[in-house]
Amino acid sequence: MLRFSGAGVSDVGLVRPQNEDSAFVGPYVAVVADGVGGAAAGEVASATATYALTATVLGRMGEEPEALLLDGMEAARTSIRRGVQGDLNRLGMATTVTAIVCDGHRAVLAHVGDSRAYLLRDEALTRLTNDHTYVQGLVSAGQLRPEEVGRHPWRNVVLRSLDGDPVHEGVDLLPLPVRPGDRLLLCSDGLTDLVPDPMIEELLGVADPHSAAAVLTQAALAAGGRDNVTVVVLDVVDGPMVVGDGQLLGAVREIANIVDPGAVRLGRC
Ligand code: CA
Repeated sequence: MLRFSGAGVSDVGLVRPQNEDSAFVGPYVAVVADGVGGAAAGEVASATATYALTATVLGRMGEEPEALLLDGMEAARTSIRRGVQGDLNRLGMATTVTAIVCDGHRAVLAHVGDSRAYLLRDEALTRLTNDHTYVQGLVSAGQLRPEEVGRHPWRNVVLRSLDGDPVHEGVDLLPLPVRPGDRLLLCSDGLTDLVPDPMIEELLGVADPHSAAAVLTQAALAAGGRDNVTVVVLDVVDGPMVVGDGQLLGAVREIANIVDPGAVRLGRC
């Protein structure tokens, strides 16, 4: 049976006053979410999405990964919408979500926004996700060279993210034909804006997932740490099923950041 053996770090960085990233790392599900939104709501969006998605998957283990991811994303969308209805200061809050679910046999990636997933196989790094950004659109259309992205004035414009809007463009779903020995990285742009892919390739390969997550985070801090940095490193392993708990990272560790669907139903939010 396939599962993940992983570790993660979520660091506020050196410039931002608080951490608006959230993450979860467990044997069958991993999530990285990078919240955006004025009026101090980015951390609510990322924490609520991470919680809703993770709870959906953990509560229905063994079901099709695609269904779990889509239902988890929808649960996240509903909670974010209710969170805005409960406090209009949160209007416009949204989050990136990059998540991987494994059912013991297959792994599937779901992605919206500009966080990223990478695969390290045989010491070679492959990027698995497309940034849903304005500049990525220009690169894909051949109108901008990849090396020019970092200097483009609109480089931070995210075209697609997870918010409370019931009408949306959906998420990318990507089956991942992983095998034992593969190493996966999920990360927020606090890493990839500052640490170039060749350095990620080198540092991701070091030792165990704990050490790799730590040195990647340190590399982002050494490069200025101007954003929150979240790094989740997963080794794909073959072994018996484990009773999975997992680890919460970043804003989702603060319960006040999670929109409580029960409270909203009762009109108490
Ligand atoms: Ca960010």
